Amino acid sequence: MPSPVVTREMRTNNLPHIWCAGCSHGSVMRALCQAIENAGLDRKKTVIVSGIGCSSRAVGYLNFATIHTTHGRALAFATGIKMANPELEVIVLTGDGDISAIGGNHLIHASRRNIGITCIVMNNSIYGMTGGQYSPTTPTGDYATTAPYGNIDRDFDIPLLARAAGATFTARGTAYNIVETTRIIEKAIRHKGFSLVDVASICPSYYGRKNKKGSAVDMLNWQKENSIPYAKARSMSAEELNGKIVTGIFNDDSFPEYTDKYQEIISRAEVK
Ligand code: SF4
Ligand code: MG
Repeated sequence: MPSPVVTREMRTNNLPHIWCAGCSHGSVMRALCQAIENAGLDRKKTVIVSGIGCSSRAVGYLNFATIHTTHGRALAFATGIKMANPELEVIVLTGDGDISAIGGNHLIHASRRNIGITCIVMNNSIYGMTGGQYSPTTPTGDYATTAPYGNIDRDFDIPLLARAAGATFTARGTAYNIVETTRIIEKAIRHKGFSLVDVASICPSYYGRKNKKGSAVDMLNWQKENSIPYAKARSMSAEELNGKIVTGIFNDDSFPEYTDKYQEIISRAEVK
């Protein structure tokens, strides 16, 4: 018997899903559903937008107003929706390649505008859907179908990138600690302004296999053993943090939200 959350929030007629056995995208999607329930969002005023990739397929299973857009452009579509109707709660579901490569430009501009969108990144350090190519979050030296001798690029830390660009809420959860991830997503939804939650996810089929990480359970256990809370990480050196996952809320700042500022402009123009 499906749980009440699954029944309410999901288009069960679209199941079974396409994800591989052991993929963590389903856990993150479930965390989002629970966070939406906990935050008390109105289904009629909630829009979920995705780009392209395994993670972005989640919108097909979510029983909300959803839109599955083009590669890297989820934030651009979400910005248009939020500007057209600021009353809507707009949530973006995306992957590491979608948000930080093809959509990297949209990420930095959504961050600097501080537009009221919640962006959840299912970050599995690989392009899963297109065959296991390395992405901007594949760690240096790791393997991918396009990096058979090891990746020579430095990897992005997506929350730090968004924060540097102006995002007022940035955080990271893991697929292993889905309870903490649910709490973080709820706080991100409640935050006024642009919020970015990076969720360390697992792709056993490509990243795991190429890098000999073992089974899905092994990969989740690795997350458990290598997660460091943000407060503790602040007193650790870069060498000590190498290969670790820093989790928790990185910043939660107050700054005027973009559509509020735009409404002020409209009001001033109307007075004249
Ligand atoms: Fe998940 Fe990887 Fe399979 Fe895509 S390829 S569904 S990311 S395990
Ligand atoms: Mg990915």
